[in-house]
Amino acid sequence: MSLLSISRPNDAGVSVCRYVLDSEIMSCEVQVSQPQTAAGKGLVKADPGNKYHVASPSNGDLWVMYVHPGDIVKEGEELFNVSIMKQEKAVLAPTDGIVKRVLKTADFKENKQMVSVREGELIVELGPVPRVCRNEACGQPIPMNNAAFCPYCGERVL
Ligand SMILES: [Zn+2]
Repeated sequence: MSLLSISRPNDAGVSVCRYVLDSEIMSCEVQVSQPQTAAGKGLVKADPGNKYHVASPSNGDLWVMYVHPGDIVKEGEELFNVSIMKQEKAVLAPTDGIVKRVLKTADFKENKQMVSVREGELIVELGPVPRVCRNEACGQPIPMNNAAFCPYCGERVL
C-alpha cells in the first residue's frame, strides 16, 4: 500500500487520505484534529513564537482585565486574571511593551460577569515601546509617537 495524499483537515477536523491498494485508489476519512466548534469561531490564536502575544494559559474564565490599549506595561506586570477550575491564574506581561490590543475584557467585581477564554487564545497583544524619555531622571516610555513633550516630566522629546 502506498499513500498518495492527505488533505488539510476541514472544519470538522477531518482529513481525506488517498492511497493505493491492490492497484486501486482508495480513500478514507480520518479525524486528525478537534472540530472547529461554533464556540471556537472567531477565536484568535496567539502565536507562541511572538513574545508580544499574551494568551490564556488554559480554558477558563477571564474575570479581570487590568490593562487598556495604549497602556505601557513592564515585564512581569499582571495583565489579566483567569479563573481556571476555581483557581485564580495571574497572567503577566512577558516583556516590556505598550498594549496594542485587548481582545477580551472583563470586570467581575463591577458587573459579576466572566468571559470564557480558551487555551492559547490571544487575549492581549503588546507592541514594542516606541521611545523612552531622554531625561535620565525620568526615563519613562513615551506612548505616543508624535508627542513633542514627555507626558511624565515635560521634557521636550522631539
Ligand atoms: Zn520624561
